Amino acid sequence: MSLNRRDLLKAAGAAGALNLVWPLSPGLSPARAREAAEALGAAYDPAPFTLGVASGDPVPDGVLLWTRLAPEPLAAEQPLPEVVEVGWVVAEDRELRRVVARGTAPASATLGHSVHVPVSGLAAGRVHWYAFTALGKTSRTGRTRTAPVGPVPRVRFAAANCQAFHDGYYAAHRGIAREDVDFVVHLGDYIYEHGPVGGDHVRDHDTPAVLTLADYRRRHALYKGDPALREAHAAHPWFLTWDDHEVVNDYSGTGGGAPFLQRRAAAYQAWYEHQPHRDASATTALPDPEIHRVRRWGDLLELTVLDLRSYRSAQNLPDGTILGAAQKSWLKGTIDRAPDSWHVWANSIMLSQLRGRPGGPYMFTDQWDGFLAERKEVLGQVRTSGLEDLVVITGDWHSAFVDDIRTDFDDPSSPLVGTEFTAHSVTSGGYSADWNATNGPVMGRANPHLKYFEGNRYGYDVYEATPERFSAHMRVIGDRRDPVSPVSTLTTFHVDRGRTGSHEDPATKNSPAQYRRD
Ligand code: FE
Ligand code: CA
Repeated sequence: MSLNRRDLLKAAGAAGALNLVWPLSPGLSPARAREAAEALGAAYDPAPFTLGVASGDPVPDGVLLWTRLAPEPLAAEQPLPEVVEVGWVVAEDRELRRVVARGTAPASATLGHSVHVPVSGLAAGRVHWYAFTALGKTSRTGRTRTAPVGPVPRVRFAAANCQAFHDGYYAAHRGIAREDVDFVVHLGDYIYEHGPVGGDHVRDHDTPAVLTLADYRRRHALYKGDPALREAHAAHPWFLTWDDHEVVNDYSGTGGGAPFLQRRAAAYQAWYEHQPHRDASATTALPDPEIHRVRRWGDLLELTVLDLRSYRSAQNLPDGTILGAAQKSWLKGTIDRAPDSWHVWANSIMLSQLRGRPGGPYMFTDQWDGFLAERKEVLGQVRTSGLEDLVVITGDWHSAFVDDIRTDFDDPSSPLVGTEFTAHSVTSGGYSADWNATNGPVMGRANPHLKYFEGNRYGYDVYEATPERFSAHMRVIGDRRDPVSPVSTLTTFHVDRGRTGSHEDPATKNSPAQYRRD
């Protein structure tokens, strides 16, 4: 295919063709909406498991299993009874013969007929297969994995972010599904609340604002129509955080009052209904799922998942917060109590300072640059607690960066406390090649901690950690307009244990990039 979904829609509009239309346009019947989605590459699983299966939040003795019954994926209301009993099974083999756990769970209309099963009692560090049954049908079989305990020689995981449906096909997720990884981390912008017209800073003119629970449900169901995304969910357990577009561009905390809070509650509920997310506790009532958490992969890696959206204040305030008071004190405690291992922070939005030109203003104060005092406090805590081997993995930017993390970014001689890898987007458009060519070197000069910038490609990162080394492999696809575009490795950066700072692998040091600090 030579056109991405946005181009297809534009071409159809210009030609007055009626067969291509944005599937979430108002007034389409569910069947017509589905046809429109299929014309843009959606291909759903057989009903009622149209949206596939997923697993998430693996711990040593279990994992969270997810599905949602949606016979008419793009309908506002599902043609289903109020409550449907769903069976689930977990086995040690792909054919589901050696069953190790099974049960039933109610799928109720209240939660969009979604099912979240926290399975426990499983063996640690093992691959498991699972499936659901409902209404006389069986879902596809998913593969998952429990976290290991004790010494672990190696962990591999993928990180994805920013997957605007209208900007391309999910060849990157097809790649992730085929990777030999233990788990996947999603860093946010899983959906975009706007349609094919509009962008990160422009209102969508084609489709009305996404405001209600039904709107957000249909949006998630459209995104899960891309078969590669469902493949990636079915292949590995996921950890998830979110960024702004799960609700609305650049939102902060509770700003906006009651109408905004209702909208956010709808967005959060739909997100929960479509993700393999484990409720933090039985007392956490929807629609405010608590997503920040710490998990361990044996004694090798500690993963800290941050929520940089739910509790933030407005940006550029002297006492502003991106974490919120409770999450900040939790994070500082986590830093103080950290075990001797790799520490990975799943961080939706850039931590490192980023000036657009030398001595100039910050490029975006929606990222940590808008919360200077808190960044200083958190990185100061890393320094004073003696936390070592910190790697921050980041999304949002639609371009790849590698940064040294310093306690004071304005002082290049201040302590180096970690490395930040900001990954390419799955599909969401970045800046133009011209902008990147001009501004890569300018950003390099303006930010002495910035080591690498590449903005012309799409893909995901694969991270691999052993007790001695943490490696970031930048996987890129050839063309986001091609659903089966092949994946290659653009370059690899390494961080050696006990030595802060990263270095690029000599084998790929000459790969294309718009900035590289030598
Ligand atoms: Fe994005
Ligand atoms: Ca974002």
